[in-house]
Amino acid sequence: MLDAIGRAIDSRRDELVALTRDLVRMPTINPPGEGYRECCELIARRLQPRGFEATFVRAEGAPGDSDRNPRWNVVARREGRGAGACVHFNGHIDVVETGAGWSVDPFAAEVVDGKVFGRGACDMKGGIAAAIIAIEAFIDLFPEHDGAIEVSGTADEESGGYGGVAHLAEKGILAKPRVDHVIIPEPLNKDRICLGHRGAWWAEIETKGRIAHGSMPFLGDSAIRHMGAVLSAFEAELYPALAGRRTDMPVVPDGARHSTMNVNSVHGGLAEGHSGFPAACVADSCRIVIDRRFLIEEDLAAVKDEVRGLLDRLAAARPQFRYELRDLWDVLPTMTERNAPVVRSVASAVETVLGRAPDYVVSPGTYDQKHIDRIGRIQDCIAYGPGILDLAHQPDEYVVIDDMVDSAKIMCLATHHLLFGSM
Ligand SMILES: [Zn+2]
Repeated sequence: MLDAIGRAIDSRRDELVALTRDLVRMPTINPPGEGYRECCELIARRLQPRGFEATFVRAEGAPGDSDRNPRWNVVARREGRGAGACVHFNGHIDVVETGAGWSVDPFAAEVVDGKVFGRGACDMKGGIAAAIIAIEAFIDLFPEHDGAIEVSGTADEESGGYGGVAHLAEKGILAKPRVDHVIIPEPLNKDRICLGHRGAWWAEIETKGRIAHGSMPFLGDSAIRHMGAVLSAFEAELYPALAGRRTDMPVVPDGARHSTMNVNSVHGGLAEGHSGFPAACVADSCRIVIDRRFLIEEDLAAVKDEVRGLLDRLAAARPQFRYELRDLWDVLPTMTERNAPVVRSVASAVETVLGRAPDYVVSPGTYDQKHIDRIGRIQDCIAYGPGILDLAHQPDEYVVIDDMVDSAKIMCLATHHLLFGSM
């Protein structure tokens, strides 16, 4: 079996490279969300001759959706001979902006030293191409399979996934009972299985003051000084508490096994965007945005209460301290069980192809699994794919062709395990 799959994938190596290059040459930059429809059509055109029926779904009304930048998604489905499970490969087709520092054209998809270079090569068009080649080989080898195979190319993962996977999950397309097993070929390295991610809570905190002449600040009340007290309390109380919590989730890198919080931004006093000399004023408002990442052992309500409690203690202790706390966004942590079918199938395939057991990891940040789990109610979901995670979003991003070939063999073998129940 491994020999047959190995040969089938090896013989498609040039096709795999060509498909990766075709995908990378499409500059699907998000924001604003360029060229989604063309990229969806490329995936559909590729799969339709292999018996897939392709459906195009626009997430109308999703954040960022407009006639100029419509949020298109494609779902291609191939029915097997009889009833059975549905194995779904989901890849986001959007890429982040190129940024500075490239030594190659980010959308030329140059092949150098066994690597395909370009924005999105690693995150995650190489993974999409590897998944497509894997299932094409699978269908040619095992045309009599039961169940169904799906491939989706989805929008907006880099901006939260609301115009992509979240929309498909809400429509019942990427959801139970239609879909049973999901593999997201994100660049987690070919020998690692990503089980899920930490939770996230974003909030805005505003401290209030009173405007006065800057030469007589004692006649006003500085919101910036109040915010200074908040930041001091974070340093004295909150950060040590967060650093003291460590999760059993196998989060990588190791620093992210603790609870963390980033202060995204500080805005206070005179509004930005003016030119010329500033006026002398005491700040009547200061705002920060916090990005709190929490662990599966923590409860979202307790995470929020911890920050609110700290602010309430300041309000009790500090004259004239007034604040507002506004929720912006939250996502619960998710982690697929290690004995879930998709985990066991991919783990076994990694061992067979690479000759060693996989590492199990959890992502410090969230990705589309959050929607598949919470909205689609599919718990049998992992991220597994080729590509070196650290290269994602960097200049001179690339994917190693040998890694794509290995992971395609692993995805093909895992699909066999999921649909036939044996390796
Ligand atoms: Zn990605």
